[in-house]
Amino acid sequence: MIQADVDLQPYNTLAIAARAAHFAQVENLDQLREALEFARRKKLPILPLGGGSNIVLTGNFPGLVIHLDNPGLEVREQGERTLVTAGAGENWHQLVMATVDRGLGGLENLALIPGRIGAAPIQNIGAYGVELRDSFSSLEALHIATGEMHSFSASDCEFGYRDSVFKGRARDQYIITSVSLELHGEWHPRVDYPALQQYFREQQIDSSGLTPRAVAEAVIAVRNSKLPDPAQIPNAGSFFKNPIIDGDLYRELKKAHPDLVAYEVGERWKLAAGWLIDRAGWRGKRQGAVGVHERQALVLVNPGHGAGAEVTGLAQEIAADIHAKYGVELEPEPRFYP
Ligand SMILES: Cc1cc2nc3c(=O)[nH]c(=O)nc-3n(C[C@H](O)[C@H](O)[C@H](O)COP(=O)(O)OP(=O)(O)OC[C@H]3O[C@@H](n4cnc5c(N)ncnc54)[C@H](O)[C@@H]3O)c2cc1C
Repeated sequence: MIQADVDLQPYNTLAIAARAAHFAQVENLDQLREALEFARRKKLPILPLGGGSNIVLTGNFPGLVIHLDNPGLEVREQGERTLVTAGAGENWHQLVMATVDRGLGGLENLALIPGRIGAAPIQNIGAYGVELRDSFSSLEALHIATGEMHSFSASDCEFGYRDSVFKGRARDQYIITSVSLELHGEWHPRVDYPALQQYFREQQIDSSGLTPRAVAEAVIAVRNSKLPDPAQIPNAGSFFKNPIIDGDLYRELKKAHPDLVAYEVGERWKLAAGWLIDRAGWRGKRQGAVGVHERQALVLVNPGHGAGAEVTGLAQEIAADIHAKYGVELEPEPRFYP
């Protein structure tokens, strides 16, 4: 089951060529336990891997990559609510479409996000005004140190903006094996995002009688028009989180740049990182094998299949430039390995 010296290029959407010292494809809990035992015996670091759409490989991984491939989809109706439980190895977008096909609403704004279900809670995936936590019920995870299974409720997960306990206190301690989502019969479309409104206007769709499928189709069309498909142009989606700044800096920036794109979050302000990068002149720039996407400045691309160092080098240059021009710190969204 465990292979040595495996090429990871097909397993990361940035198409970075790097190798794993050991690689296990796991399809069930027994195989997962076996893989963890192998890593424990050899004292190897572990990298749990889903679709590889939110990682940057900065070099070869010296430990064991555990590719979560466990299937399973269960849909249970409980009165007004429907509980959907899926194995970590299931594809996220296919799960969204399976719920939409059943006429269930709640996940449609998250259509077409790449990756697998097991990774979705790690950064509380979000798009078009909706986050995973809005439908999250619970998850099951294997505690690496003890081999015990633990259940996490929504509050246990400590979800935040592109954040959860699995990026903080519980980082590298668990492998998520399944996720349960709760969808409700009573459904209200969430289509406030200007890009969705524009789509409905252009397609002459009356947004008062929408179905979950119609919203999913709108999200898919808008995403396809803006974001590069990793199969055509390797990328990891948004490379930086939208920075959250305090009121003083916001007011200063707004004075200097009246068209600054920002949203109020409590007493602070969330800036559109893509706007800052675009205005700083990076959109469409190419640097060796890597570059900044021509339509979306927040997406770094790797059309020349460059090494991880090229990607991180470009990201560092952009972050330094944004700091120099706006006094704002940009934090990468994907995780870097090793
Ligand atoms: C074109 C594109 C568009 C995107 N758009 C969005 C978007 O709109 N919104 C958004 O939130 N994200 C977006 N992303 C980022 C990414 O798709 C999500 O973060 C997704 O959830 C990652 O899933 P994955 O299976 O590929 O995770 P991976 O990249 O394989 O892993 C990501 C992290 O999670 C860990 N991990 C993975 N599986 C498990 C598990 N079972 N147990 C424990 N840890 C695990 C990994 O170790 C790693 O640290 C986009 C990416 C791309 C390429």
